[in-house]
Amino acid sequence: MFDKILIANRGEIALRVLRACKELGIATVAVHSTADADAMHVRLADESVCIGPPPSKDSYLNVPALLAACEITGADAVHPGYGFLSENARFAEILSDHNLHFIGPKAEHIRLMGDKIEAKKTAKRLGIPVVPGSDGGVGPDDDAMAIAKEIGFPVLVKAAAGGGGRGMKVAHTADDLALAISTAGNEAKAAFGDASVYLEKYLQKPRHIEIQVLGDGRGGAIHLGERDCSLQRRHQKVWEESPSPVISPEARARIGGICAKAMQDMQYLGVGTIEFLYEDGEFYFIEMNTRIQVEHPVTEMITGIDLVLEQIRIAAGGDLPVTQDEITLNGHAIECRVNAENPVTFRPSPGKISRYHPPGGLGIRIDSAVYQGYTIPPYYDSLVGKLIVHGKTRGECLMRLRRALDEMVVDGIETTLPLFRALVREPSIIDGDYHIHWLEQYLASGDPAG
Ligand code: ADP
Repeated sequence: MFDKILIANRGEIALRVLRACKELGIATVAVHSTADADAMHVRLADESVCIGPPPSKDSYLNVPALLAACEITGADAVHPGYGFLSENARFAEILSDHNLHFIGPKAEHIRLMGDKIEAKKTAKRLGIPVVPGSDGGVGPDDDAMAIAKEIGFPVLVKAAAGGGGRGMKVAHTADDLALAISTAGNEAKAAFGDASVYLEKYLQKPRHIEIQVLGDGRGGAIHLGERDCSLQRRHQKVWEESPSPVISPEARARIGGICAKAMQDMQYLGVGTIEFLYEDGEFYFIEMNTRIQVEHPVTEMITGIDLVLEQIRIAAGGDLPVTQDEITLNGHAIECRVNAENPVTFRPSPGKISRYHPPGGLGIRIDSAVYQGYTIPPYYDSLVGKLIVHGKTRGECLMRLRRALDEMVVDGIETTLPLFRALVREPSIIDGDYHIHWLEQYLASGDPAG
């Protein structure tokens, strides 16, 4: 096992990793920018190192500073959390060159899945069903039109290097195609430095269903069921739940089995998420994330498996905690991502939290790094915290969530709490009857949270 882990992240995920380390008896090193000197993860870690000024590129993405922090503190492993360097294969290799462990998958797998065109080819080869589309990248001079016509309009132009919903454009008809390809390409070039794009059939009312996997890197791998992340705004997840209200035990076993088998064949190491769109009973692979995800707690709540703790154990050479047969899904869990944003315009609202009261009681979990008097800096994401609620049934979970949302107080800044209070009372949400465009249509239909 590792002796000392440096947590190369901030906010709630840094705290989440820190908690797992403490339970495992591993010493912790927090790193922080000058803007985060008062952050909770810094206060709770055994040691902390300031790694630069507020902009991420100078601090949380500053590899030389992170390496220096490891050397100064004698850390033997680095946990990257999510975002920042978590899916940077080069970073994993650099750590290894310095005899440091990267708590994550093998660099080759990070690289493979980071290129969405290669990822899709790999998925297809491993027997995972994919969205119909171009076999590789398309350029403006290629026969994109012929490919698009074969797929059938509408088609979605997607960036090979994409992430966070950027570099994605829909072409509803043949007339839109050239423009969609050039805009998506330009956006991708600006955001990721890589303009390559590919085509996919644009699904009209799918759900976003993702499978959590865990591999030991030696050919052992299991799945931990699905998460339904269909409630999205601008391709960003807002509310996640497990199990999905629309996936039967048979469908779960089928797609979960395919994913676990694929991970066994790849000899995948650590935690990963295989993302699908789901429509008319069919699953279509869109991408794989080779890291811990924001919404991992809903899976933890229903499986009882601590994913971050297992991720660390496995990175240190440990075995899988359970066999596939030993996994039972218990009840239902929902996560709300409470952001420091105006609930109607979604304009970020950083600032000082003047009053903070997190909800409590049976089945309630808060993953957050804020406290009363804390100032949310303007430089990073706007997550205040994740409210995760568990119940024996989806109905009980919704009942508790309603109560917990009403109880939660975050004053001094604007938050998306009013939106969740409205959502949890919406008939379509209560019925589990929603798809990936539902939330945007709902938001466009009026002033639900006002
Ligand atoms: P990113 O890496 O940018 O998050 P993804 O490929 O994971 O991109 O897609 C993000 C979201 O975009 C999905 O959850 C879904 O809402 C939407 N999306 C992606 N592919 C399609 C598609 N073929 N048809 C319709 N919507 C899609």
